[in-house]
Amino acid sequence: MARVFSGMQPTGNLHLGNYLGALKRFIPLQEEAESFFCVVDLHALTVPRDPEDLRKKTVELAALYVAAGLDPEKATLFAQSHNPHHAEAGWLLQCVTRMGELSRMTQFKDKSQGSDSVTAGLFTYPALMAGDILLYQADEVPVGEDQKQHLELARDLAERFNRQYGETFTIPEPRIGETGARIMGLDNPEKKMSKSAASEANFIGLLEDEKSIVKKFKRAVTDSENDIRYDPEKKPGVSNLLSIMSVITGKPVQTLTEEYQGKGYGHLKVDTAEVVIQELKPIQERFRELTQTGEIEEVLAKGAEKARAASEKTMARMKEVMGLIPGR
Ligand code: ATP
Ligand code: MG
Repeated sequence: MARVFSGMQPTGNLHLGNYLGALKRFIPLQEEAESFFCVVDLHALTVPRDPEDLRKKTVELAALYVAAGLDPEKATLFAQSHNPHHAEAGWLLQCVTRMGELSRMTQFKDKSQGSDSVTAGLFTYPALMAGDILLYQADEVPVGEDQKQHLELARDLAERFNRQYGETFTIPEPRIGETGARIMGLDNPEKKMSKSAASEANFIGLLEDEKSIVKKFKRAVTDSENDIRYDPEKKPGVSNLLSIMSVITGKPVQTLTEEYQGKGYGHLKVDTAEVVIQELKPIQERFRELTQTGEIEEVLAKGAEKARAASEKTMARMKEVMGLIPGR
């Protein structure tokens, strides 16, 4: 059976981009593959975080995994810091990663720009991410388009490691959706929707209420024409709305474009808001139930055990081939 791994950072409110580009796509995979879905709390530490808020967001994200449809009996759901192999493998892989490779990562360039307190962790993040994936011998990694470059580095590191120390890792394949892999910010459709965006107008949070969703879509930046067509280069705002609608309804963008011929942007905005509201409603209800019972901590505890057991062999192999002697 194929193995799948993916993770999300508890850095803020999960948004529609995270959902359509990643989380929603995890759900069918739990049926067909041995899957591991991680709340990557160690990655969240690469930018300044309030400890109390980090704890809260970690549990919240795990609850969203379950609320969106991940079943802890089928997929392993866990927090990265609960399996110490991640930090260990991350260090070992940093020792085969080159500075030049890390310097070329566009995420590092974007996130470090304009900041005078860039951490070393933000720079070495892709090596930790490679460890996350390689520890589980994952065949496939479902992610949004922005993670493609990190995935390529993970593959390069795995190949290099295998060459240098002997066959150790499966080479993972990125699984990036055809539509919805890059949902753009509603306030600026030139940039991806992001948890760490400066303005609330950028994203639709998965837990946001109806009124606010409608308001944000109505204010979404489009263009000065009035022609509904899919052209991400020239019409990023309108194309973004069509992508969102397409992933949720399952209708191809082409069909939607035909349906909206002769209609105005206002119409498209209101309809998109409505399909989003209907998609999120059951997730929000389930989320509220889950957070009242305290069962999420239990899910994470069980998941951590399964994750540790699954990564143990690879961890031991990495240490052995690199020349670390076994402890007693
Ligand atoms: P941050 O700004 O803190 O990095 P983020 O929004 O990029 O937050 P991550 O936790 O880094 O969220 O990413 C989780 C998953 O969501 C990844 O698979 C990533 O590729 C995907 N993703 C993130 N943003 C988008 C987006 N705008 N559209 C589609 N997928 C996205
Ligand atoms: Mg990100």
